[in-house]
Amino acid sequence: MILMAKVILVTSGKGGVGKTTVSANLGYALSYLGKRVALVEGDIGLNNLDVALNAEDRIVYDAGDVATGRASVAQCLIGINENLFFFPSATAAVNLITTEVFLRVVRELKRNFDYVLIDSPAGLEENFHRAAVGAESALIVTTPHISAIRDGAKTVKKLYSYGIRECGLVVNRVNGEEVLAKRQLSPEEIAEVTEIPLWGVLPEDDFVNKYTIADSLNKHTDIGMSYSFIADILNGGERKIYDCVSPYSGFFNKLKRWIYK
Ligand code: ADP
Ligand code: MG
Repeated sequence: MILMAKVILVTSGKGGVGKTTVSANLGYALSYLGKRVALVEGDIGLNNLDVALNAEDRIVYDAGDVATGRASVAQCLIGINENLFFFPSATAAVNLITTEVFLRVVRELKRNFDYVLIDSPAGLEENFHRAAVGAESALIVTTPHISAIRDGAKTVKKLYSYGIRECGLVVNRVNGEEVLAKRQLSPEEIAEVTEIPLWGVLPEDDFVNKYTIADSLNKHTDIGMSYSFIADILNGGERKIYDCVSPYSGFFNKLKRWIYK
């Protein structure tokens, strides 16, 4: 049984590859397994996770209030569902949230939750340090694009220097048809070149922006199923990786490709 540590940094080398989307959806997927999950805004100042969770209007206290002693960590938490809670960053006086404050928050959450997921800035960015200090393991998100893969590989070296013990690769926005046509590297090939063990594959999905996150986890969608596979792996369950090419490898698809060749 493989069990990832409880404090998981969701990171990448390059920005815009899906860290916030992955943090939010994985938080839901773990909460559906009955786990208590704290989702932490670690991209301090940019604050995208509150929007992804549709919680931006509900923030009363945030990390800035913890820094000044106005609020406790518990007072900042916003319930998303009965198992899933969101810890917001600050909108003003971001410099009050020092590495020490952030570490204190993460340690307290760790005592009270099964999982603490930290949505971080990209690994090659300045604010990364603060988000990474309390983490025990990391999910490195990449898309199949060469620049994202290269920057992802660089970030891993940095993560090990922080003492993060386990790193897992999540390849996001995979297009199975492109992989079959050999126009896109497969997730397995990406894992091989980056030397990061593959923990998950998420398909390209035009509706990712339109779904509420909970909807996308409906097991009938491929994207929902692929997230629940990652949650299972993190939770020490069966190791399943979403097979992005199988929807395109049936007889009719082969025929279609042959005709349009
Ligand atoms: P990051 O936090 O790494 O900057 P985001 O999570 O904000 O990245 O995602 C960047 C954009 O990519 C968003 O518009 C998001 O909706 C989109 N996106 C993320 N995952 C997918 C996917 N599997 N399919 C299609 N679009 C996606
Ligand atoms: Mg983000």
